[in-house]
Amino acid sequence: MNLGEAPVLAHSLSSADQTLVDGVLAGQRRALAKAITLIESTRHDHQQRAQQVLNALLPSTGKAIRIGISGVPGAGKSTFIEALGVWLIEQGKKLAVLAVDPSSSVSGGSILGDKTRMELLSQREEAFIRPSPSAGSLGGVAEKTREAMLLCEASGYDVIIIETVGVGQSETTVAGMVDMFCLLQLPNAGDDLQAIKKGIVEIADMVVINKADIDRQATAVVRAQWRNALHMLRPASPNWAPPVITLSALHKEGIADFWEQVEKYQAALKPTGEFAAKRQHQALSWMWQLIDSGLRQHFRHHPRVQANLPALTRSVEQGHTTPAAAAYTLLDYLKH
Ligand code: GDP
Repeated sequence: MNLGEAPVLAHSLSSADQTLVDGVLAGQRRALAKAITLIESTRHDHQQRAQQVLNALLPSTGKAIRIGISGVPGAGKSTFIEALGVWLIEQGKKLAVLAVDPSSSVSGGSILGDKTRMELLSQREEAFIRPSPSAGSLGGVAEKTREAMLLCEASGYDVIIIETVGVGQSETTVAGMVDMFCLLQLPNAGDDLQAIKKGIVEIADMVVINKADIDRQATAVVRAQWRNALHMLRPASPNWAPPVITLSALHKEGIADFWEQVEKYQAALKPTGEFAAKRQHQALSWMWQLIDSGLRQHFRHHPRVQANLPALTRSVEQGHTTPAAAAYTLLDYLKH
């Protein structure tokens, strides 16, 4: 193989999977739902088929705008996404709504997706709504959601919205898979400080203060606080200062303003190459996350590691072995 030549991944689609691929490309919702179920399956043979299906669809992905929306439960995410979705459909667009909610596998119920949410939107032909996969860890949930996003793109959706709750690591994870990450906030003074403490402000490309209808004055105060907070940070891009907008999802006010910012963001970052560079960086970091977790799994299943790990763990705990010596001894087992 020449050094410059890309290795060809083996893929041979069965005729059933080819039909699935064709159905996804033709924008058939049933085929899309089936393909997502395939990627969410934990069965080894399903996973292999899923990767082949994804590879076949990869050339048709990447055309959508990927937007992350995060907010605490009750911030108004589903109300907002529904209002935005209906508005986008009126503009002739198709949208897919996916969710990252690792709590769904822990509690058995999801913060995001079980009740009848987005009722209007779910009845629309132009919208595709899929709850969070219950694949276990945040990493597992995120991986499936990333792949589902690619399937939705191949199926012709122009806008992909990935919703997540404002708790734990899920926000950073979602920010790492979308083009534009938006924080949905309530007009409560003090909330901004929490977000700053959690380091969330740094990853926001836009801050949206919802429920502006409840108290316009308080909303204006909170907006000013957010602007100050964002002003103190060095922006991620020299070409984009994250805006702070206010809206009322319930009364469908400010939806067009939101979208105007999404368009401005693309207009600012696409000509400079930053938009494409962000996606490249995300794709590579996804690859490395998979390599890391694959290696970790390989390590944990290695027979000599399994045989010696308990004793070495105890030895480190009791201070008889240094963590480094234990780690190198265990890693050495992989060589044989
Ligand atoms: P989620 O948990 O973030 O998805 O929040 P929901 O969309 O379920 O909204 C929580 C509650 O806030 C619901 O009762 C909504 O009707 C209400 N709500 C959402 N947006 C607004 C808004 O702009 N103004 C007012 N007054 N209430 C809202």
